Amino acid sequence: MKVLKFGGTSVGSAKNINNVIDILNSYAEKDTIICVVSAVGGITDKLLLAGSLAKNKDAGFSKTFNTIKEIHLDIIKELIPFSNETILNVISDKLETLNSLLEGIYLINELSQKTSDKLTSYGELLSSYIIAEAMKSRGLSAELKNSQELIITNSNFTKADVDYKQTNKNIREYFKSTKQKITICPGFISHSKTGEQTTLGRGGSDFTAAIVAAALKVEQLEIWTDVSGMFTTNPKLVKQAYPIEKLSYQEAMELSHFGAKVLYPPTVQPVLDLNIPIHIKNTLDPESVGTIISNNHINSGIPVKGISNINNIALLTLQGSGMIGIPGFSKRLFETLSQEKINVILITQASSEHSICIGIDDKDADVAKSAIDTTFENEIALNKIDPIIVEAGLSIIALIGDNMKNHQGISGKMFSSLGKNNINIRAIAQGASEKNISAVILQNDVKKALNCLHEQFFEIKTKQLNVFITGVGNVGERLIEQIKQQKKYLKEQLKISLHVVGLSNSRTMVFDDDGLDLNTWKEQLQKGEKASLQGFLAQIKTLNLRNSIFVDVTANEEVAGLYPEYLRQSIGVVACNKIACSSNYENYKLLKRLSLKYNAPLLFETNVGAGLPIIDTLNNLIASGDKITSIQAVLSGSLNFVFNNFNNSTTFHEVVKQAQVEGYTEPDPRIDLSGVDVARKILILARESGLEMDLEAIENTSFLTKANLETKSVDDFYKSLISDEAHFQKLYASAQSKNCQLKYVAQLNNGKASVGLQEIPEGHPFYNLEGKDNIVMFYTQRYPEQPMIIKGAGAGADVTASGLFADIIRIGNK
Ligand code: ADP
Ligand code: ASP
Ligand code: MG
Repeated sequence: MKVLKFGGTSVGSAKNINNVIDILNSYAEKDTIICVVSAVGGITDKLLLAGSLAKNKDAGFSKTFNTIKEIHLDIIKELIPFSNETILNVISDKLETLNSLLEGIYLINELSQKTSDKLTSYGELLSSYIIAEAMKSRGLSAELKNSQELIITNSNFTKADVDYKQTNKNIREYFKSTKQKITICPGFISHSKTGEQTTLGRGGSDFTAAIVAAALKVEQLEIWTDVSGMFTTNPKLVKQAYPIEKLSYQEAMELSHFGAKVLYPPTVQPVLDLNIPIHIKNTLDPESVGTIISNNHINSGIPVKGISNINNIALLTLQGSGMIGIPGFSKRLFETLSQEKINVILITQASSEHSICIGIDDKDADVAKSAIDTTFENEIALNKIDPIIVEAGLSIIALIGDNMKNHQGISGKMFSSLGKNNINIRAIAQGASEKNISAVILQNDVKKALNCLHEQFFEIKTKQLNVFITGVGNVGERLIEQIKQQKKYLKEQLKISLHVVGLSNSRTMVFDDDGLDLNTWKEQLQKGEKASLQGFLAQIKTLNLRNSIFVDVTANEEVAGLYPEYLRQSIGVVACNKIACSSNYENYKLLKRLSLKYNAPLLFETNVGAGLPIIDTLNNLIASGDKITSIQAVLSGSLNFVFNNFNNSTTFHEVVKQAQVEGYTEPDPRIDLSGVDVARKILILARESGLEMDLEAIENTSFLTKANLETKSVDDFYKSLISDEAHFQKLYASAQSKNCQLKYVAQLNNGKASVGLQEIPEGHPFYNLEGKDNIVMFYTQRYPEQPMIIKGAGAGADVTASGLFADIIRIGNK
């Protein structure tokens, strides 16, 4: 004999009910089957909604009633196309009485818990009748048995307690007397000893099935639902969650108690002592293995088996110096809650006994507060304790596993993983049995917390990075192409799963929290919503994904101004935009501080030398205890390009134009030619070397003429370059006469920085610097005479994109 229970989705449509019938039919070939069914999916909620509308004198209840009616009539018509009169009459009668009940509630303006149970029982009464008739219409031998005649409870309406003695007797007697191969029973509903309709609590059909299974000591209880078992965590919130093959009863109980809705928590109790295994299966995918819950796999060795969450939690804190060393406070607190029938979900107490924290359902918070404040009225008046503090909008997340007690460091990993993602923990509870470690966090952070804990404990091998790129011009586009090309390699070799979740240019922006399809990003972006810098930030905040990285591929001051906001949300920042790190020293310092405080990396390797590892090398030198004594560098790919191509057979303005067209200069070439860009770069290197410096402190002797420097637009600038051609030819001729090359050099000596054009003699490391290359020479305590030299292409979209990419990977490898 087997007991099978089918949930709301499984009986949610004619198609799914046909699946159920096929499953029952195949089982019945070998066994006697008892089938417990839920209400059609969503109907219990609709019944409660109609009830609450009616109670509030809202005539809209009849609209909800009509929906309920149509759903059932549609199903029956599809299941039994030529339904006979009797079936339709029975259903119409039931619906009619339901309507009368709702009208009654509307008239008297009252919905007691007792009436609520009467109301919700229609869900299961209707579904079980329909399924039994559908089976009969297919010629199958199935009988309906109303569980209300079997399951007897007290009068604790909406969540009644079972009288096992009477219930077991009823069940045994009934099933002894029937020879039916298949019996259909409604779940969830029951009767009190005094003859009233009761229910077993929301989700209670699972419990009905367990009660029947235990009374008859069947060999297996199967819970058929809409997912393939009990998952490592809620599959609706974590895409990577997967079904757990085997669980102990204790683990299943903890997981369900802490929110894994797939199993109603009391379900385990009746079958536990009898060691009847519970098999969770998927009606929509009957072939998948599912989860087996029993006592046979207690020592599977795996420490963490699952993670669950309960939302809508309020945290009550009772505190005050008057509590220390005085017995009876907890007793009075819990007695008060018990009198109000308030369920305590989590308790923590500081060892000083100065405060007790309890987690309860949000909806009980007001009642709890006033009851507790009344209980401790005297102590509050005497200032011995404070009025109770209530914090709402919280959730509990819990790691579950029988074997956690045998492993060190689980809670350490849990909390550091949450901390790294800026998830604030309000309270922690860990039972002495160590089957469960729970933490109270903001409800808003639940999805992120589950995802990062799941990654930590179940996908240790891959780390997901969620990247948001703003600015998809030349460099941004290359970056996306490089990411697309390297995705597979990153996943397989570096165990980094890189998702580009958001993209924006100045016109539109687009998001997909599963990661955008990089084959069609341009089309998606074009169709995206209107872009705004604040809107982009707001959306990243709302998505609240773990390991989020904001990539700034603009040269925009406003974008740079938002870095503090990103960092404060623990969102990493990768920038090729130099503005932030070369802005005033206070701001640079603030960014560094925020990055440390919120554990949000701030990387800007491409600020100096595009893709060359200059800042990273400098950071490594300093971190390993070295000290920079001097830096000599050619840091402008654009200026190097210009002076390498300028001679007495070319003109200066043509060479500058060419550099701009080929993308080697900033959109406004004056930023490069005036030396400002190079000054910003040496400033960043100076700061990264540990110096407190501002841009004004950098000596900048310009090679441009006063007229060049005073132009108001790029066009005027070009015109003035044409007029001053003789000036530039003179610079060239002077260098030429000394057999020197013109190089734009940045230097840092004894804490002083300068930039300017220099005539470099033959033999100097800068002399042969080609094309748009950069070179940096670090003189340090460890490299006093022979400097550490980094040299290579220092400008261009591809190398800059690869520098940004390297920064993203650096974050991934952390
Ligand atoms: P039924 O109507 O079949 O009783 P429920 O809606 O009560 O189904 O429970 C199944 C749902 O439980 C799943 O669709 C899933 O969204 C949710 N759920 C939450 N946590 C888990 C988990 N750890 N494993 C599986 N499902 C879970
Ligand atoms: N129909 C009830 C509910 O929705 C019981 C169940 O589905 O298990 O809560
Ligand atoms: Mg359920």
